[in-house]
Amino acid sequence: MDIKALEDQLSKFIYELETEDRLVRVGLKDKAETEKIYKKHKELFTEETLDKVETERRRTPTSLKLRGASKETKTKDILERIYFTLAGSFIGLATAAQEDAITTYFSKAKVKVVGEEIAYYELMPRISKDSIFERRERLDDAGYAVISKANPKRLKLVLDEIKIMKKLGFSSYIDYFTKGKKMDYIKFYKICGRLLKDTDKIWNKVMGEVAVDVLKRPFKNIRSVHLAYLRSISMYDNYYPKEKVVSTFLKWTGDIGFDDLLPFIHIDEKDRAKKNPRAVCYWPNPPGEIHLVIKPIGGEQDFEAIFHEGGHALHGASVSIKLPYTLRTLAHSNALTETYAFILEDMVFDPDFLTTYLNVSSFTGNKINRQAYFVNLMMLRRYLGKFCYEFEMFSQNAISKGPVLYSKNLQKATGFITKREGWLADLDGGFYSADYLRAWISAAQIKDYLVKKFGRKWFVNKRAGEFFRKLYSRGVTDEVEDVVKKLGYKPWDTSLLVKGYSQVLG
Ligand SMILES: [Zn+2]
Repeated sequence: MDIKALEDQLSKFIYELETEDRLVRVGLKDKAETEKIYKKHKELFTEETLDKVETERRRTPTSLKLRGASKETKTKDILERIYFTLAGSFIGLATAAQEDAITTYFSKAKVKVVGEEIAYYELMPRISKDSIFERRERLDDAGYAVISKANPKRLKLVLDEIKIMKKLGFSSYIDYFTKGKKMDYIKFYKICGRLLKDTDKIWNKVMGEVAVDVLKRPFKNIRSVHLAYLRSISMYDNYYPKEKVVSTFLKWTGDIGFDDLLPFIHIDEKDRAKKNPRAVCYWPNPPGEIHLVIKPIGGEQDFEAIFHEGGHALHGASVSIKLPYTLRTLAHSNALTETYAFILEDMVFDPDFLTTYLNVSSFTGNKINRQAYFVNLMMLRRYLGKFCYEFEMFSQNAISKGPVLYSKNLQKATGFITKREGWLADLDGGFYSADYLRAWISAAQIKDYLVKKFGRKWFVNKRAGEFFRKLYSRGVTDEVEDVVKKLGYKPWDTSLLVKGYSQVLG
């Protein structure tokens, strides 16, 4: 089997697909013509091709050589990554029409709230900015009516995906992702349970205070819609001027020594009407072509966005060209690149960073930092609840119990009343929630290393820049747990993450 030829074709397909997706997303093209791209490369996505790759993978011996990875091990790993990339597209292609129907349904859905007609997609932005408690609940009720109607369609989609996975020879949804992402989800589930316990006390204390301060009531029987509001209240937005978003990022890349990478990173911050407001980073061809897309609206979320996507972008632009294509971009999971993104994103709340780049006093910087840690812990607990629900549902093969497991786990993790109807709308495919959680844990460890090695102001230290560049250059070869191990930390040791919350919020 000519692996190089397969990689070449796959790289062309990915380049075209990423470019098409980006052009539509940024508002430079009206309609996505992805079907055309799939058709052009259709021989990639057949059961025959998948079988061929799988047979070749089995045939490749796992080397027992002890010194570093041998060529055989690498080849086996490459074939595995190619297999799951092709399988993902194979499943995606088979369910594309269903997926499209759901997207279209939501983009057209409208609701009536006290006589006013509102588009479904406008509900969440409205909720997050509405300071009236009762009105947020009314908007939320309207949203659930739309979500509930789509549940049968969404359920069919998930069941069909599982059917295809089984047809490909996997015993279950969990089996497919355990192999594809090289993850021990059973062990990780236990870690998550412990992390929830270890942050229970601090979460209940802080959330109790915030409920009284902001929501004007005790933290009891409050609906999850108010969590969305608390997440986005932004009392410090005026410290984050819109016109300084891009320039601050550029100034910082110079300070840490990344400015030579900028020619390969295309930053699109333009405000087009049809541009999707959610920030994103594309790697159509790393390291040569990377796109960082943001749509600033003013406030701290813009800074979070450019630094988070900047983490992905700098990673992509530093990937060694000497690596085979697969190790440059076909990752088993996204936990590693999300870790790099989290580390940079968290800088924008760091009091030292705020003083250095945005002229914020250390008094205000500390207040901003505390608020950010609160939101961060809220999101962590939400994702812990999400992952526990997904794991329990898929591991027990109990899709029918999904609504109950969703509501129970989310409520236990966040303390907010969570309606069962949201179980499929809030489901992250492929356990992406676990990728984020792994990034949360690992980012705390790598940040600890940075401070110990380069000091509190590591973010302006060129040696820290070199440290990152070395890690980035390995592309997606490693999983994040391999990286923290090399730095002397224990994978999935959550103690530093927990310590951070109790130090700032305690
Ligand atoms: Zn990300």
